[in-house]
Amino acid sequence: MKRYYSDPWLRNLDTKILSQHQEDDRHLVVLEETIFYPTGGGQPHDLGSVNGVSLIDVFEKDGVVFHALEHPLQGDDASCVLDWPRRLDHMQQHSGQHLLSAVFHDDYGYRTESFHLGEEYCSIDISTPSLSNEDQIAVETKVNTVVFSNLPLLTYTLSPGERGKVPLRKIPNLDADLRIVEIQGLDYSPCSGTHVSSTSQIGLVKIIKSEKYKGMTRVYFLCGDRALRDYGRKQEVCHNLGSLLSVPEEALHERMALELERKQELEKKILELTNELMDLRAQSIVAQGASPFYLESPNATIEEARQLAHSVLNLATGTVIIRLGERLVLAHNQADTLHLGQLIKEKAGPLGGRGGGNATGAQVYFPDRAGLREFLSALKIDLESD
Ligand SMILES: [Zn+2]
Repeated sequence: MKRYYSDPWLRNLDTKILSQHQEDDRHLVVLEETIFYPTGGGQPHDLGSVNGVSLIDVFEKDGVVFHALEHPLQGDDASCVLDWPRRLDHMQQHSGQHLLSAVFHDDYGYRTESFHLGEEYCSIDISTPSLSNEDQIAVETKVNTVVFSNLPLLTYTLSPGERGKVPLRKIPNLDADLRIVEIQGLDYSPCSGTHVSSTSQIGLVKIIKSEKYKGMTRVYFLCGDRALRDYGRKQEVCHNLGSLLSVPEEALHERMALELERKQELEKKILELTNELMDLRAQSIVAQGASPFYLESPNATIEEARQLAHSVLNLATGTVIIRLGERLVLAHNQADTLHLGQLIKEKAGPLGGRGGGNATGAQVYFPDRAGLREFLSALKIDLESD
């Protein structure tokens, strides 16, 4: 007997073991009565334990509910304990989904094409290519009004001949009894899931976002405890940001926009100053010596070194070598046959240098300081003889 239907609030049950057998590494147990809901109708299966052994799956096959366990059970008696927070969460999300789908249908004519109840999120796909922010807010407001109205949720079974008694949105093409979940007077849905007893038990319903999906709109939502936890997380983010920026929550957006604008201005200013500094350094390098111009700049990035080399070559003719730790950036603007990429390959390669480049620009990295030193001295000699 499926006690999760007759009493969805039952959390513990003592019953009898009817059968058990092993399939692969799982032990499948059939009980006389069960409080464990099997996967179905978009709702995930329950968890919990039987005689202290944890459930790993619950599924239904040909009307029989199988409880999958890691270990076999002893004796005939079964003491069942339901993972209640998980079940209540599923009931809140599932009942919330019925309500949300009903309002989308009644107020806008959008059908719910599919429903996902996952650990991470819940969503429905509704039959509209787009959903405006105003409509989303209107639906959310209406749904929560129904929640606060505390309408009863009723479940009952209709025979094929009785189906005309209730206004079903979609009549299943099945010649069998139909289980109906009714939000009293508001919605009648064929459903095999477990549900709360009144809309107030759904708790807060919050639409998190909506997005276009295969010509439909996917609406993400949270109900009950999930919505409360999400509120808590968002509260924390707002609080932390508010403390960091020393502004009240309502001023956060404006302040952040201002900070980002300031950041962009500063970045622009830094770029201008960097360019200016490069030019000044280039002037000083050129004033101090002749080609090859050699400079050590351990904190510069490769991009900055390239820029500096470019600035030097704007002022003078020759070769520039900039050293950033174990790395060298080389460039020249001489109208001769010196090919820097080739030079790296022929002279730096045998000394352990890794790199390359083209005729007028190259870079090389030496894992070993001795190689770098040797390359530099050889390079100077080579360049001087140029
Ligand atoms: Zn349902």
